Amino acid sequence: MKVLVIGGGAREHALCRSLSQDPAVTELHCAPGNAGIAQVATVHQVDQSDGAQVTALARGLGAGLVVVGPEAPLVAGVADALRAAGVAVFGPSAEAARLEGSKAFAKEVMAAAGVPTARSYVCTTPAEAAEALDAFGAPYVVKDDGLAAGKGVVVTSDRDEALAHAAACGQVVIEEYLDGPEVSLFAITDGTTVLPLQPAQDFKRALDGDQGPNTGGMGAYSPLPWAPEGLVEEVLETVLQPTVDELRRRGTPFSGLLYAGLALTSRGTRVIEFNARFGDPETQVVLARLRTPLAGVLHASATGTLDQLEPLRWDEGAAVTVVIAAEGYPAAPRTGDPIEGLAEAEAADGTAYVLHAGTKAAGDGRVLSAGGRVLSVTATGAGLAEARERAYRAVERISLAGGQHRGDIALKAAQ
Ligand code: AMP
Repeated sequence: MKVLVIGGGAREHALCRSLSQDPAVTELHCAPGNAGIAQVATVHQVDQSDGAQVTALARGLGAGLVVVGPEAPLVAGVADALRAAGVAVFGPSAEAARLEGSKAFAKEVMAAAGVPTARSYVCTTPAEAAEALDAFGAPYVVKDDGLAAGKGVVVTSDRDEALAHAAACGQVVIEEYLDGPEVSLFAITDGTTVLPLQPAQDFKRALDGDQGPNTGGMGAYSPLPWAPEGLVEEVLETVLQPTVDELRRRGTPFSGLLYAGLALTSRGTRVIEFNARFGDPETQVVLARLRTPLAGVLHASATGTLDQLEPLRWDEGAAVTVVIAAEGYPAAPRTGDPIEGLAEAEAADGTAYVLHAGTKAAGDGRVLSAGGRVLSVTATGAGLAEARERAYRAVERISLAGGQHRGDIALKAAQ
């Protein structure tokens, strides 16, 4: 099978790494890719949100499967363009991707499907926002209604800050605060059958101890030793399957990766958000543990044959990923700095490796930073403590001027 992956972050590097290890994959391509992806796939320059360009590339390559990584191309309808051209594609239609593209739409689907989530109001004027904030009280949760790369949410006890965010966004969703630990649970679906993956936890804040601004994600780990037994089955039954059934019932089936961001609150499990694609950085640790070859699983989603798939096989061990971000991230990341120690960081036995996010190859063989999140250093181990130790040992071998990373990824869970 010839496979084309769309995207150029660490999530896509993780996807490409797994696909490159699948014997069924005869050729691997990625657009636009990055410096790390270029080591395992042939990279192509296209506008990843332009359905016509992506379709032309897929047809030119004779791709038997296209995997769309990021949300923006999905919301822009790239999967629709590919499907219309008869190309097998892993990723939902633009209509179904609204589950991520519009928080208000997601709330409406959840209400119809009876999926537990935070109570909320959609607000468009400052007066409406003020009323909703006062109805729930502090801490306040204000979410930009549109796509914001995980950065459109403000959680604060400062009413003025909450109001200012609402005013800056236009349409917002204001909702009750959910206490309790967060879990990311991914499921692969073909619109009917739903196959949950292993749960993971990510770290959204920039600084240790969950301080600082929200980011795209600074690290992740899997499994979650503290999670209640039966969590995956519960979420499949109360969240994932009802949501997939509701979208199919509406005539806009969701096929691809359904990501449930959950809060395990004192009153039960609640959905914080849905995403319509693999999460970054959780994908890095979930795929590190998946033993079933990836291409066949994604192809079964693309072709509506998930019900015929053997149960997924998982590594019993653990995986940890630590993100190295550029100086100034998330507000104003500095780019163009040389990265050193990449080869030294990787373990010969494959237990530690570096996934690239915002990187590009300079002509002279050096690798330069080219984005906010630069690298996702990933390691596996028998347990979280070993995986952590290996990941941080690898991080220490890498140098990037002004680079920043959290020191407490998976720390509590490993103890
Ligand atoms: P989202 O983009 O919806 O995942 O929100 C980003 C982050 O904001 C989440 O991972 C949570 O940490 C936080 N958050 C979002 N909604 C809530 C909520 N209702 N209560 C508490 N924290 C929230």
